[in-house]
Amino acid sequence: MCNSIKMNNKILTTISGSLPKPNWLAEPEKLWSPWLLQGEELKKGKRDAIKIAVNDQINSGLSIIGDGEQTRQHFVTTFIEHLNGVDFKNKKVVRIRNRYDASVPVVISEIKREKSVFVEDAKYLRSLTNLPIKFTLPGPMTMVDTLYDGYYKNREKLAEKFATALNKEAIELADAGVDYIQFDEPAFNVFFDEVKDWGIKILEKAVNNVKAKTIVHICYGYGIEANIKWKNSLGNEWRQYEHVFPLLAKSRIDQISLECQNSKVPMDLISLLKGKKILVGAIDVSTKKIETPEQVANILREATKYAEPRNILGCTNCGLVTFSKQVANAKMKALADGTKILNKELGLE
Ligand code: ZN
Repeated sequence: MCNSIKMNNKILTTISGSLPKPNWLAEPEKLWSPWLLQGEELKKGKRDAIKIAVNDQINSGLSIIGDGEQTRQHFVTTFIEHLNGVDFKNKKVVRIRNRYDASVPVVISEIKREKSVFVEDAKYLRSLTNLPIKFTLPGPMTMVDTLYDGYYKNREKLAEKFATALNKEAIELADAGVDYIQFDEPAFNVFFDEVKDWGIKILEKAVNNVKAKTIVHICYGYGIEANIKWKNSLGNEWRQYEHVFPLLAKSRIDQISLECQNSKVPMDLISLLKGKKILVGAIDVSTKKIETPEQVANILREATKYAEPRNILGCTNCGLVTFSKQVANAKMKALADGTKILNKELGLE
């Protein structure tokens, strides 16, 4: 089964998801930039980009490999574009995560997934490496928060419909050989009452019968202005995770991905996740400054105070898409090298 199970107890490394796209595929160092190719050329270009992303991760020394999200323009809407029931032509402006206004697609009829979305990409990724592979999907609550709902008019109900679609996709991804499936739920850091009332329950629906390890990624977002402003308003200690972690500890999600490097998250919150594997964000995505391997090792070492090393993975705080290829590669290498330092120290090499 999973290659991951065969590995020993050393601390593994992976990125949370996105990598820069080649400059011939989409304008680099920009979020959500549109495709520069069309039709068959675009299809082939996306494949070539996955291959480059895989090579970059392997050359950096990472142990779990993703597709760098090279086939999606946006981490939420690209998935939704493949579902029935959402109108992308007549958009409406809504407030995203209580933070910024965006023009978003509108739910106009029943949500249905009639065909797979990323399964062909996953098969291709599987063909490129024997290392364990990971795939990312948007989380149901974050999907709800990225749309205007003119049909169900009920956030929980809409989330449930998305969870059904995500579950089908996740089962097929696992069958295609994906070892880890991650759901991105930045909304879990904002809507605490909803997380408690239905957020976890509905996320568990998405992972039902999925034969892969499951991850939920909860971050404080890309380094865009609205997020930086929000972070500055959160005070000296970011305790948002304190609401969510005890609930996740009781859930059937296997792993939790969180933001630690240069963040004000008190590391002792990790102890609320007993029994879970923790993807410790050791790379800051809001600065081009490259972390030193020692800085990475320091964060991971700090995490070992609150979780056993075998339950820790070295990760990035969030995606690396906003950087140049050079910066992203250097950050991935720092992640791998820093983790190596700690593995050596702990006698895990
Ligand atoms: Zn993130």
